[in-house]
Amino acid sequence: MLVEESVVMADVQMADAETFAFQAEINQLLSLIINTFYTNKEIFLRELISNSSDALDKIRFESLTDKSKLDAQPELFIKIVPDKVNKTLSIIDSGIGMTKADLVNNLGTIARSGTKEFMEALQAGADVSMIGQFGVGFYSAYLVAEKVIVTTKHNDDEQYIWESQAGGSFTVTRDVNGEQLGRGTKITLFLKEDQLEYMEERRIKDLVKKHSEFISYPIYLWTEKTTEKEISDDEDDAPKKEEEGDVEEVDEEKDKDTKKKKKIKEVSHEWQLINKQKPIWLRKPEEITKEEYASFYKSLTNDWEDHLSVKHFSVEGQLEFKVILFVPKRAPFDLFDTRKKMNNIKLYVRRVFIMDNCEGLIPEYLGFVKGVVDSDDLPLNISREMLQQNKILKVIRKNLVKKCIDMFNEIAENKEDYTKFYEAFSKNLKLGIHEDSQNRAKLADLLRYHSTKSGEELTSLKDYVTRMKEGQKDIYYITGESKKAVENSPFLERLKKKGYEVLFMIDAIDEYAVGQLKEYDGKKLVSATKEGLKLDDESEEEKKKKEEKKKSFESLCKTMKEILGDRVEKVVVSDRIVDSPCCLVTGEYGWTANMERIMKAQTLRDSSMSSYMSSKKTMEINPDNGIMEELRKSAEADKNDKSVKDLVLLLFETALLTSGFSLDDPNTFAARIHRMLKLGLSIDEEEVGGEDADMPALEEDGNEESNMEEVD
Ligand code: ADP
Repeated sequence: MLVEESVVMADVQMADAETFAFQAEINQLLSLIINTFYTNKEIFLRELISNSSDALDKIRFESLTDKSKLDAQPELFIKIVPDKVNKTLSIIDSGIGMTKADLVNNLGTIARSGTKEFMEALQAGADVSMIGQFGVGFYSAYLVAEKVIVTTKHNDDEQYIWESQAGGSFTVTRDVNGEQLGRGTKITLFLKEDQLEYMEERRIKDLVKKHSEFISYPIYLWTEKTTEKEISDDEDDAPKKEEEGDVEEVDEEKDKDTKKKKKIKEVSHEWQLINKQKPIWLRKPEEITKEEYASFYKSLTNDWEDHLSVKHFSVEGQLEFKVILFVPKRAPFDLFDTRKKMNNIKLYVRRVFIMDNCEGLIPEYLGFVKGVVDSDDLPLNISREMLQQNKILKVIRKNLVKKCIDMFNEIAENKEDYTKFYEAFSKNLKLGIHEDSQNRAKLADLLRYHSTKSGEELTSLKDYVTRMKEGQKDIYYITGESKKAVENSPFLERLKKKGYEVLFMIDAIDEYAVGQLKEYDGKKLVSATKEGLKLDDESEEEKKKKEEKKKSFESLCKTMKEILGDRVEKVVVSDRIVDSPCCLVTGEYGWTANMERIMKAQTLRDSSMSSYMSSKKTMEINPDNGIMEELRKSAEADKNDKSVKDLVLLLFETALLTSGFSLDDPNTFAARIHRMLKLGLSIDEEEVGGEDADMPALEEDGNEESNMEEVD
């Protein structure tokens, strides 16, 4: 092309160019990528190749149901072209390409949820190589390039050029005169002066081997070969050129005698295949090294760390399929993002990639497990809808779940690994207990809890059972917000005194999980905070004594119920507390205090449900406690005494707090405390009348519509 021509063309393109501003967060990300010093810039190539591979997967999948989709370019490949003259590196793929709208949306105007998270991670010291995990890998191009041009052709649109030097904006132009791709995407990086190493063949080959070895499409590198050739002068008149070669004259002999002979350097180019593509899952597990698994895992997931665990197996017989499953070392940043259905198993049929995210291949709670499944039996052109009904898929799923649980048990053999695993994925296991009735018992073996006896360590249910006291029939647990909040709870007093171990369930999801689990190893799981905690272990004599005591407190219970009104369901003498004066327990089938807290935090909950579930509180009083004894005497003397009412209400409110509930009206509570303080300090009400003026009249409280801890 003549120089003038290209100038004209550039002008035309400029005229057609539409300019777009980068979305604010993307812009921020770009400046961060450009202006921060990162040593690990090389990962840009992995990211771009991985995008190409995804784009190829997409078109291959479409072509399974409609062959004509490949017509414009039947071959599926990735090509890398270094250009030393223009100092560029291009990555070309014959993938699905992008329409104009895709270009505008995907590369600049719509920020992925990961954009912000990635920047936060970077600022917190994360490595830039994590970029792919956050779904913004494309922008890593700016680690090495000052300008990027993306030329792309989608089957449904014309060819377009996207161009940007970052700096706030990009342009999109219809590509009329450029070399036509047929279908696919070409990304050209104009390398920064200090990044020219990425044009070196050796460097590119090493990088592909290191980061992209398991890409299942051929990766070709445009390589240059220089050969020296001696030719005579007459030959020189008509130099034979190889198709792609350039001939450049060198070293012309000055000596007139040898004028007839010349040495020339012949430069030829060729495409060199630089990756092996035999899928790793087809190989025998015993022949694969740990490093190879790690490298495959990284290419599969974009993770920058090795996997925690791997399970590679094949099933043969009526159905045949091969599987590699990985557990990552950490939970992804969006593990429980409900907008996103997490599923990280890639489905292949006879080596051909079919789809990511195949619903039904693995249950949701195992969404963090990554890997590949290659089935010999599914039809190649199966659609998502058909898959969901598919019987073969159901068999595969069952196997995957079983093998995942096996894998978790293997992890559990190493304490350090299991701690890591449990920190990251215990919520998933608990979700599994809630949802997967078939595997509930097996999953229960994987649970770990702190307990009254475990100290800093966590204990399994199995170990708990081995420590159970003689005569102990049930497994006890308490739910709450934190270890601190439950370990000194009044509910544990009797249990502790008897030497019974109590598990601390302090994860919000524990409430749901334990609600489904109900028992372990034939032993009932019993909440220490719910009604009906029976510890029948006393001698006949003790029982008798207790019964008598209970009787003597019956009238106090009645009086207290009258004073507390609707705030409590009933008032009874407790079996479970030793030191505290009283506590509030919830019905066996209602919510615990902890559940009430969780539900209150969920703004979208159904409020009719919560008033039903949270209303059943029973006040349990401790007959051996001095306060109770005094209260009993005072109440018997005069049950309408003002200070009796005060005390009962105060006891109720403090019990709310120690039992893990919250106070809806802390001011009334504080006022009551102040009033008691004044009594204690013998300050006359009249003397400080001004301050007391707007304090609630205490004796009226009992008749109000419960203003404490009233839920909806
Ligand atoms: P991710 O690949 O994780 O989605 P990227 O920032 O790397 O995030 O890419 C953004 C989007 O741009 C991709 O989701 C894809 O739709 C599109 N894209 C990037 N590279 C290509 C390509 N080579 N071919 C087709 N589409 C591409």
